[in-house]
Amino acid sequence: MVAVQRAFKFALDPTPTQLERLSRYAGASRMAYNFALGLKGQTHQQWRSLVDELIAAGLEEKEAHRRVQIKTPTKPTVQKIFNQLRGGPGEGPGGLAPWHHEVATWCFQSAWMDADQAWKNWLDSLTGKRAGHKVGYPRFKKKNRSRDSFRLHHDVREPTLRLESYRRLNLGKFGVVRLHESGKRMHRLVSSGAAVVKSVTVSRSGSRWYASVQCEIQTERPAPTRRQRVNGRVGMDVGVHYLAALSQPIQDYVLIDNPRHLSRASKRLARAQRALSRTQKGSMRRRKAAARVGKLHQEVAQQRATTLHWLSKRLATTFACVAIEDLNVAGMTRSARGTVEEPGSNVAAKAGLNSSILDAAPAELRRQLEYKTSWYGSQLAVLDRWFPSSKTCSACGWQNPNQTLADRVFSCAECGLRLDRDLNAARNIAAHAEVVSASGTGTPGRGGP
Ligand SMILES: [Zn+2]
Repeated sequence: MVAVQRAFKFALDPTPTQLERLSRYAGASRMAYNFALGLKGQTHQQWRSLVDELIAAGLEEKEAHRRVQIKTPTKPTVQKIFNQLRGGPGEGPGGLAPWHHEVATWCFQSAWMDADQAWKNWLDSLTGKRAGHKVGYPRFKKKNRSRDSFRLHHDVREPTLRLESYRRLNLGKFGVVRLHESGKRMHRLVSSGAAVVKSVTVSRSGSRWYASVQCEIQTERPAPTRRQRVNGRVGMDVGVHYLAALSQPIQDYVLIDNPRHLSRASKRLARAQRALSRTQKGSMRRRKAAARVGKLHQEVAQQRATTLHWLSKRLATTFACVAIEDLNVAGMTRSARGTVEEPGSNVAAKAGLNSSILDAAPAELRRQLEYKTSWYGSQLAVLDRWFPSSKTCSACGWQNPNQTLADRVFSCAECGLRLDRDLNAARNIAAHAEVVSASGTGTPGRGGP
């Protein structure tokens, strides 16, 4: 069985009293979000000024970052501070939200989770960890400019968010709201046990309110197709020279190049980084140069992401089993620096990319393969991290203790096999990896086919 996320969206027909309550819930959610963001912003400012002080005192920026350890408050801390300040019955007069008990506590909880996510997205985007469009500094929600919305969760074992009938949606503490259309399909899935309600997002669009009910639906894991069964198992070695080496071809290729633009972009990135380091701290030029570095990082990350999605989908749909190496090994053995005998080419540029993009490829591919194999009826296998995949002959099992990173070709002294080292590794991975995903739950991240 595979778990798939699906949303059912309904237009609502609230009563006048409910209409008012909807606005109040959305207002509480907005207030809670802004409160969390305010706290995060304050902490960030503190951090920034301490770092600036150290830099002014002559410290390198990196060292200053290392020394100033201030933790940005996340939901538990935000909640604690909010509870101290909220006021209300039995909690003192005044206060930020003396009315808090009139709305479901989930209005606050989910807003704080969203604020955590928005903050993380911004940071990840800034540091190049996040692919896709550049994410700006999280903004406060304004009453008339932001969308009115709030999200409710519940304990799945004692569901309070549920359809009472085809036309009546129970929103827990909020009460039962009439649906403008029939919820028959969702009702059937839930009452048969095939679907479970996870959360409900209520939002206003124009003058109409909608409820989007997020469900998790259990479906049969698809059986492998004929093509997948015929092709069998593929081993993949993720590297730096190539994005991936495969034990069996896809579209006639066994070596998948890094996207062509990657090396060009990394050169531009290295240049932009040098330009940045020449600028004066706090100057306008520095801000511009930093923005350029960020933009290039983003561009490269996005192109890379597209390629990774293409590759993971191809593998999951073409083969019955996709075998990969354990992550730590891939990270340790591959380095842009190469070796003393054969230094890697374009080291500086690749090193600049390594931390954010190249190093992320094995982990990202594995994450994608975990859910895509379960979607497309294939399996994922992982090679034990201690297996010497690049030192072992994939034909006879002989081990070459002297094989180094500089040796691009694996030569077997026993059976005479001569093969590209990454292809040899890919074949070992295919042969020796063990299946980890007999059944999996699909947890797709953002974006991607
Ligand atoms: Zn051999």
